Amino acid sequence: MLTLIRNARVFSPEPLHDVQVLIAGDRFAAVAEHIDLTGEELSVIDAEKGLLLPGIVDALTHPCGGGGEGGFQNRTPEIDFAGFVSAGVTSPIGALGTDSVARSLDVLYGHIMNLRAQGLGAFMYTGSYRIPPTTLTGDVARDITLVDPVIGVGEIAISDHRSSQPTVEELRRTAADCRLGGIINGTGGTTLVHVGDGASGLKPLRDALNGSELPTRCYYPTHVNRSRELLDEAIQFSKRGASIDITVSTVPEFVEQGEVPALQALTAVLETGVSPDRVTLSSDAGGSLPVYRDGELEGLTAAPPTALLELLQQVLRTQPDLAPAVTAAISSNPAAALNIASKGRIAPGYDADLLILKSDSFALSDVFCRGRCLMRNGNVNIQSTDGG
Ligand code: ZN
Repeated sequence: MLTLIRNARVFSPEPLHDVQVLIAGDRFAAVAEHIDLTGEELSVIDAEKGLLLPGIVDALTHPCGGGGEGGFQNRTPEIDFAGFVSAGVTSPIGALGTDSVARSLDVLYGHIMNLRAQGLGAFMYTGSYRIPPTTLTGDVARDITLVDPVIGVGEIAISDHRSSQPTVEELRRTAADCRLGGIINGTGGTTLVHVGDGASGLKPLRDALNGSELPTRCYYPTHVNRSRELLDEAIQFSKRGASIDITVSTVPEFVEQGEVPALQALTAVLETGVSPDRVTLSSDAGGSLPVYRDGELEGLTAAPPTALLELLQQVLRTQPDLAPAVTAAISSNPAAALNIASKGRIAPGYDADLLILKSDSFALSDVFCRGRCLMRNGNVNIQSTDGG
C-alpha cells in the first residue's frame, strides 16, 4: 500500500521545501521533489499547503492518571487513545509517578498495550518515583530487556520531599541496571529523573556520575524549567552530554513562584550553545496541577496531553522562526534521548508517524502512526477494542 502526500510544507523537523512524502506500508519510503510512481497503485493526500510534521514523541505522560499525593480525591483520570490522537501524540511514553502503591506497572503495561493495539507507538518506563524501583519482573534490567514497551526507568525523583531520598549509590545502581538492559537489547536504557524544587537540584546526579563510569547521558532530568537556577544547572549538565527535558504544562501560580515558561526556557537553552538536539519538551499529561480561586487552593486539575500541540500552534502563529526548534523538541530530540531509533523524523526508513496541520488555522487535521490513519480531516478513527 502506497500513500503519497503532496502540497505540504514539511518540517522533518528541519524545514524542507517543495518535497513530496511517500509512505510504503508502515514506513516513509521517500522524501523528495520528484517521486516516480508510474504504474503503482497509489492513494494521494493533498495537504492543501498545510504543515507536515513528525508525530509527537511525548517523553513524559501519565496515561493511567497521576496525582494522588493530596489524598485519593486528587487522583487524575486515565488518558485514552482518542485523547492522545487528538493531541497529535503518536508516541506517548507512560510513567507511574508519585504513586506506585495504589497504582501499578501491571495496569500501566495493560494500558500501553491497549494504546498499541489501537495503533499508537506507545512506550513506558518501569519504576516510579521510588528507589528501589517497582518493576514488572523483579529487576529493572530484566524489564527493559524482556518487556517490549519498556524503554527505561523513571521518573525517579530527586531533590523532592516526595522522593525516596535516594542515596548516590542507589542512583548509580538504578542507572547502571537501566543501562545494562538497554545495552543487552539495543534500545532504551535511559533513566528519566524527576527533579523537584529541593535546594540540591541536580547535585545528586553529578555526585552519582563523579566517581562512576556511567556516561552523563544515561540520566535525563525533567522539569528543569522549575526555576531559573535549576535551568542554569541543567544547561551545564547538558553540556556534559545529557538530554534535558522542559515541562510545558503549567498554571500561572507556578510562573509567579519562579518557573520559567517552556518557550522562554527553550530559547534560553538554545542561546547558551547547548547542542540543539539535546533539549526536549514534554507535557507531563495526567500529572496534577493545582487550581486556585482568590489565592486559595481549590483543587487539582490534570495536565492535558494537548500541551505540546498547543505550544507548537502558538509558536506558528506568533514566532514562526522558532517552529522548527519546537518541532525537533517534541519529535526527533526525545526519540534520540530515549534511543527510539525508528521514531521522530520524516525521512526514509523511519516509521510513518505524521501530523498534518491546516495551513491557515494550524488546526490538527490528520494523524498517521506507522502508516495507519488514526485521524482524517479532524475526525479520530476510533479503533474497535471488542475484536469486532
Ligand atoms: Zn515529575
